[in-house]
Amino acid sequence: MAYKITNKCISCDLCLNVCPTNAIKVIDGKRWIDPNLCTNCVGSIYSVPQCTAGCPTCDGCVKEYTNYWDSWFDTYKKCVAKLTNKEDNYWQKWFSCYSQKYAEQLAKRNPELA
Ligand code: SF4
Ligand code: SF4
Repeated sequence: MAYKITNKCISCDLCLNVCPTNAIKVIDGKRWIDPNLCTNCVGSIYSVPQCTAGCPTCDGCVKEYTNYWDSWFDTYKKCVAKLTNKEDNYWQKWFSCYSQKYAEQLAKRNPELA
């Protein structure tokens, strides 16, 4: 099960240099993880996946499900949390705000990224 970069990515490129297997590429201006190179950081000196750990967005880089039921149960849990109003939105909102500010600062420093 590899990691993948989603459309929440703000193109900060922090993950590019931390991947121990150089699995993260920029193709046509978009960041992409080569599933054949991604090892989930297993066997490296890191104990957690570095792309996710350093990403300034909440879900710009996420685990890609290859198992139907893992994905199904995760979606089910999120739906139940929404229906019962037990969803913890605090960190979602925090990351959204933080990544938006971060992207604005990046765009100021590198206008060609905007
Ligand atoms: S999980 Fe580790 S190996 Fe896979 S893309 Fe992220 S940093 Fe690279
Ligand atoms: S660290 Fe996150 S936001 Fe930055 S390029 Fe990588 S996936 Fe995108």
